[in-house]
Amino acid sequence: MTTDPKYIFVTGGVSSSLGKGIIAASLAKLLQAQGYRTTIQKLDPYINVDPGTLNPYEHGECYVTDDGAETDLDLGHYERFLNVPTSQANNVTTGRIYQSVIDKERRGEFLGKTVQVIPHITDEIKNRIQILGNSGEYDIVITEIGGTVGDIESLPYIESVRQLKWDLGPENALVIHLTLVPFLSAAGELKTKPTQHSVKTLMESGVQADVLVCRTEHELNDGIKVKLARFCNVKKEAVIQSIDASTIYDVPNMMLDEGLDKVVLEKLGLPSIAPDLKQWNQFLGRLNNPKNEVTIGLIGKYVELQDSYKSILEAFIHAGAENEITVNVEAIHSEYLTDGNIKFKLQHLDGVLVAPGFGERGIEGKIEAVKFVRENNIPFLGICLGMQMAVIEFARNVLHLENASSTEMDEGTPHPVIDLMESQKDVVDKGGTMRLGSWDCDLEDGSIVSNTYDDQIIKERHRHRYEFNNAYKKQLEKAGLKATGYNPETGLVEIIELPSHPWFVGVQYHPEYKSTVANPHPLFVAFVGAALKHKLKK
Ligand code: GLN
Repeated sequence: MTTDPKYIFVTGGVSSSLGKGIIAASLAKLLQAQGYRTTIQKLDPYINVDPGTLNPYEHGECYVTDDGAETDLDLGHYERFLNVPTSQANNVTTGRIYQSVIDKERRGEFLGKTVQVIPHITDEIKNRIQILGNSGEYDIVITEIGGTVGDIESLPYIESVRQLKWDLGPENALVIHLTLVPFLSAAGELKTKPTQHSVKTLMESGVQADVLVCRTEHELNDGIKVKLARFCNVKKEAVIQSIDASTIYDVPNMMLDEGLDKVVLEKLGLPSIAPDLKQWNQFLGRLNNPKNEVTIGLIGKYVELQDSYKSILEAFIHAGAENEITVNVEAIHSEYLTDGNIKFKLQHLDGVLVAPGFGERGIEGKIEAVKFVRENNIPFLGICLGMQMAVIEFARNVLHLENASSTEMDEGTPHPVIDLMESQKDVVDKGGTMRLGSWDCDLEDGSIVSNTYDDQIIKERHRHRYEFNNAYKKQLEKAGLKATGYNPETGLVEIIELPSHPWFVGVQYHPEYKSTVANPHPLFVAFVGAALKHKLKK
């Protein structure tokens, strides 16, 4: 396509957590499956420059892109659905917008003008929205606006959408508004009033919704759709039902049945054809027809919150489908794991994943978990902090290096088997300063990982400050813990394995960020396969 890119804005009303990200990703999937080069962008109205400094309890997992951006977890959904990498340009926050406007002001670039929300902040937002479109790489850019209309902090974004819609013209931009249609059981009825109010709130800012996507727990009948259309100035076909799904991966087909892609393409003056969802539906076929199941323990300190380990949970779904089995993930809080209860909590598991994390809380439980799976031949995958805990466990219990630790948790440890990188020692700021993004890793012949990946040099995404301390490598290897992946330039150890164990792998990087429906991550696929093998042997 050579025409100018088209823009689709997704706003939310009535309530948060309605799943704007999944609707955006599902629509993008349907457009991509009709040959449109589509990308998705998330605008977050909070003041943090990026979510990297946020606690997972605030907004869930921090998702890392190839270019090292610390981003909102919705970008993970975009990649998992579209199988196209995202970048810093796909996630913008109010903090980042203000930071660049203020930097420009300090450089004198506003030539003596008063710097204001309109036009300076809104211009910056509009520029950020159009970066992806202007790259020439996309036919359609979907921009999801975080938050809910009516929020004070969303106003500059909604104003930017109003201006852009005007600038670009009605065939080049449209607004999808996602709302909730609640069911009042006392009245036995679905209620449209919250949606009407939400559309009105949007109109107070001069933005007319073109399409309504209505989250609901019950089918919307024709009468409700007609009513919503009439009150909200949209066509009846543009009232789209989004009923609760058993998995997020069902949503593209549900949106196809509702005709969301058709309404959108018609409005944008683009032809629509039947989307090619063959590969997607094959995945669903495997997902929905498992031949067996395994139970994997996920050991972390944020396990009470689903969103904290979003990419790991999704990677297990992809890997389960690939193995044609269901992966049941049992969340286990590392803070409450002790030598006394470890057997009871872990012995029934077919595999154990020790999660990434920061700080001291819960690490002794993670170390206990590694010890148990190492001694009991239970398949183990340690990710980032999980890999570091495996090194500490081995140093303490096999090498008998008393109080071996990471200098992150114990600065004065006599055996810093995990230590701060030299380049990190003078770093003061916390935001955006870790070892981030995609790095090469060279795999050792004959290792589990070299049999797992197709290539000998792989690229994986990192997010950490601390590293395996090469000063202990010789001792650890002699005792049986092998380094099987290295950064080719720095020699940093990225992967450790225990050849004496059926499947024991620790990785300094985050494989979960790169698992998609089209490309389930090989390490997760192999780990789930090892868990099944373990189960069948029991
Ligand atoms: N806290 C560890 C570090 O900074 C591990 C980080 C992680 O698990 N993502 O090195």
